Amino acid sequence: ASPLVVAVSTTLSAKRGLLIRNRTQFEEARHLDAVIFDKTGTLTKGDFGVTDIEAASAHTEEEVLRLAAAVETASQHPLARGILREAEARKLTLPEVVDFASITGVGLEGQVEGGHVQVVSPRYIREHELSIDEMAFDRLSAAGKTVVFTVRDGDLVGMIALADMVRDEAKETVRALKDRGVRSIMLTGDNRKVADWVASQLHIEEVYAEVLPDDKSRQVQTVQADGSKVAMVGDGINDAPALAQADVGIAIGSGTDVAVETADIVLVRSNPKDVLSILDLSRNTYNKMI
Ligand code: ADP
Ligand code: MG
Repeated sequence: ASPLVVAVSTTLSAKRGLLIRNRTQFEEARHLDAVIFDKTGTLTKGDFGVTDIEAASAHTEEEVLRLAAAVETASQHPLARGILREAEARKLTLPEVVDFASITGVGLEGQVEGGHVQVVSPRYIREHELSIDEMAFDRLSAAGKTVVFTVRDGDLVGMIALADMVRDEAKETVRALKDRGVRSIMLTGDNRKVADWVASQLHIEEVYAEVLPDDKSRQVQTVQADGSKVAMVGDGINDAPALAQADVGIAIGSGTDVAVETADIVLVRSNPKDVLSILDLSRNTYNKMI
């Protein structure tokens, strides 16, 4: 592209809320076959609210929430914010926690009042064969709610369900990509049922769920294996390797610094719909002038 055309496209892209950090990759965007979207914080608002708390026998709802919230004070995860907001609304006094540790892609843990408390994912519960109220869990996750479990000294205390909201713009984006002949794919660390529910709202047919952070970039490679050109859109620390692996890495502007710094293009308005502008501008800028 001539310097003049590039300058014009830079102005246009800035107007459309795009920060282009890597022009070569932006140029590649006109050849995209697929866009992989992270779920939480990208296709959804990433703003969780607690909807249900189920206590295991001999425990109370308050105990489930109090222990979880105490441990979540150490986390920046959107789930942590939702749990802490609920504990605050109920004016719970939180016990002191020491020795926090995060369990990547699973949750986190700490020492509370002489006990060891963990807040963990369904996958972790399954792998450690802890028994839970399966009916309640199935009902909540089939409704698209993310469920986390409070565990103390290896025993289940209860589960907390949290709801996030699907972004309206995400649905339009998926449809418009389809019109342009581009596949949409969802990639998430969240539970299969929740992922399927969100995907059905957005009419996304390809879904990879319960993907551990380390496996996200491998999943991108799998999609690239047949020669497909792939963009990845994400917001989290755990999305950074996948953003780097993709042919075009796109970060949500309000996302974590690590994601923004790894990306080729940043969506300054944090609107997934701006992915369409990338495609259109890239096609208009580079297709005309060969
Ligand atoms: P995503 O791909 O949707 O951004 P993550 O990899 O961040 O998902 O998290 C995957 C799963 O791990 C979550 O759905 C949740 O079950 C669990 N998890 C991660 N962080 C936390 C946390 N701070 N508290 C509780 N659970 C967590
Ligand atoms: Mg995310």
